[in-house]
Amino acid sequence: MSEIRVRFAPSPTGPLHIGGVRTALYNYLFAKKNGGKFIVRIEDTDQARYVKGAEEYILESLRWLGLSPDEGPEQGGPYLPYRQSERKGLYEKYAMQLVSEGKAYYAFDTPEEIEEMRVRLEDSGVVKPQYNSITRHKMKNSLTLSEEETNALIAQNAPYVIRLKVPSKEEIRFEDQIRGWVVVHSSTIDDKVLLKSDGMPTYHMANVVDDHIMQITHVIRGEEWLPSAPLHILLYKFLGWESEMPTFAHLPLILKPTGKGKLSKRDSDKHGFPIFPLAWDDPESEDKMMGFREEDYLPEALLNFLAFLGWNPGTEKELFTLDELIEAFGLERITKGGARFDIEKANWYNEQYLRKKPDNFLVERLLSASEKEGFECSKGKGENIVRLMKDRVSFPKDLLYQARYFFEAPEEYDEKLVKKKWDHTAIGVFMDYAKQLKKLDEISAAEAKSTLEKVLVVHEAGLGQVMLALRLAITGGGTGPDVVEIISVLGGQETAQRIEKAIEVLPVKGG
Ligand code: GLU
Repeated sequence: MSEIRVRFAPSPTGPLHIGGVRTALYNYLFAKKNGGKFIVRIEDTDQARYVKGAEEYILESLRWLGLSPDEGPEQGGPYLPYRQSERKGLYEKYAMQLVSEGKAYYAFDTPEEIEEMRVRLEDSGVVKPQYNSITRHKMKNSLTLSEEETNALIAQNAPYVIRLKVPSKEEIRFEDQIRGWVVVHSSTIDDKVLLKSDGMPTYHMANVVDDHIMQITHVIRGEEWLPSAPLHILLYKFLGWESEMPTFAHLPLILKPTGKGKLSKRDSDKHGFPIFPLAWDDPESEDKMMGFREEDYLPEALLNFLAFLGWNPGTEKELFTLDELIEAFGLERITKGGARFDIEKANWYNEQYLRKKPDNFLVERLLSASEKEGFECSKGKGENIVRLMKDRVSFPKDLLYQARYFFEAPEEYDEKLVKKKWDHTAIGVFMDYAKQLKKLDEISAAEAKSTLEKVLVVHEAGLGQVMLALRLAITGGGTGPDVVEIISVLGGQETAQRIEKAIEVLPVKGG
């Protein structure tokens, strides 16, 4: 069998939606699984929709995720160039071939003339008027004009497009790897424009020509392209490439968290979760979009999460490295139905991968985050915080945000806890405890505990009576790692100061 070659073919019309990232991932997995090639091709022939910076964004997203193309605009490869705008002449050649074989034709209609046709047909009861095998006979094209007239118009530089001459009665069928047999009647397809008046190809033309020339064996793409597939099949046939047609696989939609409707930017705005790999400030609409990278998701967690949005390995196993995904992946286990986007699941994956990271990685992240906030943090302190917090956070940034008390005394205290736990017993114990702590700036967790126990004996109180109040005084809240561990990170002096401050500012239970 020939080498498997798949392509990810984004259009640089904006940032890459998470569905696009999943398409790239599935293509990558399929290529690697089969010892094939993963190709990136930039489909930028629609100049009107071109957005500055979008191509860089797409390539940077792939880089961040570690989905390295084997061929592409940055890597090069045997089918250069990998940007369609730079391949313009090629499409024209094939469009002309179709015209000379009577499979496509020149159309000179102005937008106004097409609009007139639409209105005329709508008035006579046609629901969705199209430029097609019936209406083309009434329009201004090389089928209705004589050869001389056509040539004269071309010689006068009259603007024209090239349209595909779609047969009026033909059944188009193909077997989609995910959806099974798809059968469409050609009468439902309009005479699509292949070459625009600016000489640029349309998506359909460029896509089919390039897939053929680049020897693509499998077209794996989103379900939104399924309606275009019959037209593509027709093009392969007309161009004489039917026997080398790629296999098609159309991926299920990614659905809103409710499971109803397609996931969109509005869901991201509404729920405050990212649906784009990287943050993006749109240069035109000035929209701001959140990015998984900026929200501190680990790329390996995002990949694992995305792999499961529309595919499953058929086992209970959920955690897969990229290599394991390659090993397990196959088109046959891709689901037909839409896949519900669940950010909680993405967060769960992130936690799992965070726990597996070497401590050093998190220490580095903590040190740079604390420096940005103007907090001093030695490497040793960073290591201690990571040791205590690693299993409690979902994101590296939480190390600082959820455990700010390692860096500054609390300004606010959990009111409910104050009411419940801040009593005379606790205060009596803490006054003595603070005195002891002052003498011990460097203090181990064990020492912090035994010192407290000694004070408790004197006050005839138990650990359970004061522990929450102690945590409250030191951190302002009621959760976190072992209090004596926190004391050991803060040191005796700092802890004593915090306790004294709490005694000063907190109202005592029972007056
Ligand atoms: N350029 C199309 C897109 O933006 C590619 C569709 C395909 O893969 O055929 O998604």
